[in-house]
Amino acid sequence: MSHSNSEPSFLETPLESSGFLRTDRRMREGLKKLGLETVGDALMHLPRRHEDRTHFDHFPTSGMDQAVCLHVVVTDCQTLFGRGRAQRRFEATVEPILADALGNRLILRWFNLPYLSKLIAAGQHLVLYGQPKVSGRRIAIDHPDFEIVEEDGEADEAHMGRIVPVYPLASGVGQKPLRTLIHRLLQAMPEHPFPDWFPEKAAGGTTRSENLRTLHYPATMEALLPARRRLALEEFVNLQTRLLERRAAVRASGGKAREGSGDLLRRFLDNLPFSPTGAQSRSIEEIRADLAVASPMSRLLQGDVGSGKTLVAAAAALLVMESGSDVALMAPTQLLAEQHFSTFRKWFEPLELRIRLLTGTRDDDTGDLPLFAAPDMSRYGTLTVGTHALFRGRATFEKGLGLAVIDEQHKFGVAQREALAGLGDAVEVLVMSATPIPRTLTLSIYGDLDVSILDEAPPGRGRLITGIRSITQTDAAAEFARKQLQEGRQIYIVYPLIEESEKLAIGAATAAYTEWEKRLEGYSVGLLHGKMPPEEKDRVMSGFRQGQVGALVATTVIEVGVDVPNANTMLIYHAERFGLAQLHQLRGRIGRGEHKSYCVLLIDPEKPESSERLRILEETSDGFRIAEEDLRQRGPGEVLGTVQSGLPDLLFADLLGDTKLVLLARKIAESIAARET
Ligand code: ADP
Ligand code: MG
Repeated sequence: MSHSNSEPSFLETPLESSGFLRTDRRMREGLKKLGLETVGDALMHLPRRHEDRTHFDHFPTSGMDQAVCLHVVVTDCQTLFGRGRAQRRFEATVEPILADALGNRLILRWFNLPYLSKLIAAGQHLVLYGQPKVSGRRIAIDHPDFEIVEEDGEADEAHMGRIVPVYPLASGVGQKPLRTLIHRLLQAMPEHPFPDWFPEKAAGGTTRSENLRTLHYPATMEALLPARRRLALEEFVNLQTRLLERRAAVRASGGKAREGSGDLLRRFLDNLPFSPTGAQSRSIEEIRADLAVASPMSRLLQGDVGSGKTLVAAAAALLVMESGSDVALMAPTQLLAEQHFSTFRKWFEPLELRIRLLTGTRDDDTGDLPLFAAPDMSRYGTLTVGTHALFRGRATFEKGLGLAVIDEQHKFGVAQREALAGLGDAVEVLVMSATPIPRTLTLSIYGDLDVSILDEAPPGRGRLITGIRSITQTDAAAEFARKQLQEGRQIYIVYPLIEESEKLAIGAATAAYTEWEKRLEGYSVGLLHGKMPPEEKDRVMSGFRQGQVGALVATTVIEVGVDVPNANTMLIYHAERFGLAQLHQLRGRIGRGEHKSYCVLLIDPEKPESSERLRILEETSDGFRIAEEDLRQRGPGEVLGTVQSGLPDLLFADLLGDTKLVLLARKIAESIAARET
């Protein structure tokens, strides 16, 4: 939220000079660590949860499957030394404040935190939050959240007798001092209204400051969401305004028309063994119209895996190259850049166009360059295919960069998009994404772009069947894989890359590779992972592409873009570790040919509940439905994390999935923009 226009300077006051901060050096440093420099920062430091301290939960008499909030008195404390790794354990026995005749008690346990024995003592009152479990014959809570309550009870209205905020902390900043600080700031905060564009209906008669107070101290738990939505609306309108401004700036930056005559495009399409789908033709026309006007294109081409985005990129490239400008195509991995390079050579060499490959490890500027003999060819621009090495200043564009195409945009950020576009003057930009993100999120992430959608799969695709099995059924899966190999098909066997440990994943894939060589004896098995030397990767990948390698054991390096239509089977190990969208992306590697395809999700037998989560992949191959479900399961924060959006930090990112709210924000931003022009 910006602290702008009518807002009182109260919010901009540095905490240091606000008069609200105690002179505690550790706390000051802790606040800095939390990024809280001004009064406004502190007021926007939102609780991670709330505790209802008007009604505490019943004192537990058994283990529970969720956390409880209790008001208790400490009756006994002791420090114990365990066996094994010499664990030091601090235990506090607690009873309900209003002890009943039942004599219920509970043990709080902390391991290896010696200072607690100095903090907690018999007779104290605590508010605690944690999940009770059965431990032997006792009921225990390990490492509960707790606060020591003043014994004279509900004196301080910041901490007791109401719904109370619980904040994210940093070392040096305790829960109570931070709550006290924010409570005081809230009380001192002057009343201020929403900006004048804020719809009356959405405001519901409340002011901005009232809603901010509610976020910290709601009268009821139910009051939280409406307050969050109001403040989120303001934040989202600011975001949309920035996006619209960026778009207007690009449009206003001038530039030139870069639409060729279309002759090259016609010849290209005539040579293709198939004709474009309706969706492809429509997208090509939309791009052509963008190129025809003298301001740069900023377009997103969104289409599910296998929908044929590369063809559309080729069409855009041809139009621009024909107009005499160079084109750059950027892919997120070397593997994919190389695949594009070979596709485009196949497509463009008959048209006698120059193509080159530029990746991190190699510079094939001359090696793979076809000699161009015909002198008039130099009228046309060159296509450079590459990885992010493209914008590291290594690429030169003799005729000037006219079009930047970015494949699998979700693997890059806005900054990289802009860096690539910055290599030329008023560069036309086409970004492509196969992550079918929900429409709402598109609006927030790509709100500055025009959108073309490929919602039609090319014809002649075999059906894709997905099944969820347990890893213990590997023998059956291997049997099935052999049968596919016998019939001349190829298969992928995928092992997850666990984020913490790429090494582990490579280890798992390498070990699995040896096993699969045995299981699939008589067939050629290849291994592919991200840490292999590029030449080695090339060799394996081209062997697979040409059908000499029958089965490919791989980490998720194959996730994006790889296109081998004869591969029809994919076994994905530990599918439970992946998000839905990523699994959908992975299985997009198969189902690209005429053959019926099979994706087997092998899950950990210890985690049977994951089969419920993955069920939708058996039911549908509609990427957008899967994206919606992914959003529902993981929330926008997670989904956006994998989309590397270049979004600014948002306080209310978790509400980005709220379609109505985001659409309203867009509408308001548009009307603000219209008023200003
Ligand atoms: P993605 O959108 O996932 O990047 P690709 O561009 O790799 O998809 O296309 C997937 C496959 O479909 C490729 O083998 C491509 O040659 C083929 N293809 C693309 N368009 C058509 C079409 N109109 N008809 C038939 N096959 C097509
Ligand atoms: Mg692609």
